[in-house]
Amino acid sequence: MLIRQALNRVLEHGQFIMGPEVYELEKQLGAYCGVKQAISCSSGTDALWLSLMALDVKKDHAVFVPSFTFAATAEAVVLAGAMPVFVDSLETTYNLDPVSLEQAIFEAKKLGLAPKGVVAVDLFGQPADYDAIRAITQQHGLWLIADAAQSFGASYNAQLVGTLADVTTTSFFPTKPLGGYGDGGAVFTNSDRLASTIKSLRVHGQSDKPYEYQYVGINGRLDTIQAAVLLEKLAVFSETVQTRQNLAKAYDESLSTLVKTPKVISQATSVWAQYTVLLPEELDRSTVMDNLKNLGVTTRIYYPTPLHLQAAYRHFPRATGAGLATCEMLSNRVLSFPMNSSHDLTQLTQRDLDHCFSVI
Ligand SMILES: *Cc1c(COP(=O)(O)O)cnc(C)c1O
Repeated sequence: MLIRQALNRVLEHGQFIMGPEVYELEKQLGAYCGVKQAISCSSGTDALWLSLMALDVKKDHAVFVPSFTFAATAEAVVLAGAMPVFVDSLETTYNLDPVSLEQAIFEAKKLGLAPKGVVAVDLFGQPADYDAIRAITQQHGLWLIADAAQSFGASYNAQLVGTLADVTTTSFFPTKPLGGYGDGGAVFTNSDRLASTIKSLRVHGQSDKPYEYQYVGINGRLDTIQAAVLLEKLAVFSETVQTRQNLAKAYDESLSTLVKTPKVISQATSVWAQYTVLLPEELDRSTVMDNLKNLGVTTRIYYPTPLHLQAAYRHFPRATGAGLATCEMLSNRVLSFPMNSSHDLTQLTQRDLDHCFSVI
């Protein structure tokens, strides 16, 4: 009802591009996470792309990214004209493995690339281990982007996502924790300089004067209609986060004896973009999925193939050492439960659940 009213207000004023709701949303997003600059944009992918363009990456610049993530993380690096170098993930949190990051930096140098930055992903809603990653980026003089497409509203060391890296990007895709009614995204930073470059890049690299261009940019604005929806969603977002955390707790209780339930590190809180478990090696995942489906629980696989094994990305460099063995193991064994609270498992008996996960 409130969203309909908000949409009606936009229909009445008719400022569909960069209307007042866009600026109001930016103000409120910045205040929410306690960051100086919040810049809305057209999607989480464009948020990454705009940030990488603003950091002025070049062809021989290595940008370190996890392989166990959504394609956009690496895609934006390629679109911005730099070289993605794939890093392994941790079995415990599914997030970037700092040891593998060091191996990837070593590998990039060996290939004659200049290590420039890291895009850490807060996978499934939990922040990456920023203290550990920051220690490495500082040692090597790298910048740090947090791809927080799945983690807006989460925290690390009692600081909210948006403040944990030099630049943080998020997505308002409908299924993300803070979702709009279409595509949208945002960039957060405490750097006024980067913020002003990103604002220019978002409108084709325009300078202060219309039709004068200082950079090659993109059409990367957030629609006013999406901003109006997001303002209403943001007003109740703390409750949304609480609901998701309650559902995750209920899943923990139902599933912890059957599978490896997701672990949140002591410094962090998660917003549970996905509740993703690790199945025991001997279980056949598709059988488990079928069993759960028969009980009315639709599970999904995020992600079935890590990026370094995809046709579009397999020729890019990757960490040496143990390689990306954990990413490959995770993609074979993870399973995500629905985060829509009408689908929780509490209505199922333990016997039903035991049956779903029995060894075939
Ligand atoms: C969803 C997502 C993106 C891209 O966001 P869009 O708004 O869909 O462009 C980027 N990175 C990660 C980790 C995501 O989950």
